[in-house]
Amino acid sequence: MRILVVYWHPEPQSFNGAMFRTACETLVGVGHEVKTSNLHEMHFDPVSSRKNFTMIKDPNYLKQQIEEMHATETNGFSAEIETEVQKIEWCDMMIWQFPLWWFGLPAVLKGWVDRVFAMGRIYNFEHIYETGVFRGKRALLSLTTGGPEEAYRKEGFNGDITAILRPIQRGMLQFAGFDVLAPQIVYAPVRMMEEQRKQHLTDYAVRLQRISDESPIDVGAH
Ligand code: FAD
Repeated sequence: MRILVVYWHPEPQSFNGAMFRTACETLVGVGHEVKTSNLHEMHFDPVSSRKNFTMIKDPNYLKQQIEEMHATETNGFSAEIETEVQKIEWCDMMIWQFPLWWFGLPAVLKGWVDRVFAMGRIYNFEHIYETGVFRGKRALLSLTTGGPEEAYRKEGFNGDITAILRPIQRGMLQFAGFDVLAPQIVYAPVRMMEEQRKQHLTDYAVRLQRISDESPIDVGAH
């Protein structure tokens, strides 16, 4: 398979960094082709503006989706956006590696989605969800939390992790047509002993070796 790993964490020595490197090394090791978007290393700018585009539809009023539709028709995306879109178009599977921040994606990764998931190119009026542009591709969230696993059960003080991930798994990935695999979640790596963290890295590597055999999950459509 062709696999894109998108990753953001401000510290390369973080546990997220270790998960990212584990994924890349494991997937290459079993013969997959891997491309990466290491957003921190790339200094990816998450702020949308006219710099998303090389072409202009309306110079007087910036309406992002109108400009995105125009850029789709005129090949008018800036190089940094075009490069990222082409990586998604290239891949069979996409992995996002990130720490859960405020029950969601950290801002740089969210900004990557805001800028790269462009109307016209990534979705349009006819192509969303089951008819999405990227149907047939798979996606996997790999994340860490600060809170412990019991806090993310239905009766836990944070509530069900599936509900927390729904805006990402349903609102972004399935919206664009991806089939979503079960998320890889390492709860509270900070609170673990070194050996437990290493075991999680090993477990992730073992899972990734057989990732092409997995079936998508139900992320809760309604
Ligand atoms: P790190 O602290 O980088 O790593 C943990 C430990 O792993 C460190 O000791 C590190 O040295 C060690 N390590 C690194 N590499 C390896 C290796 N190869 N082998 C073994 N050990 C290794 N948490 C929530 O639950 N919900 C939230 O909504 C939430 N919001 C947040 C918002 C903000 C703005 C911030 C800053 C944090 C938030 N958190 C939240 C906490 C956050 O999710 C966790 O701190 C984060 O997920 C932990 O992952 P990390 O990679 O940063 O861990």
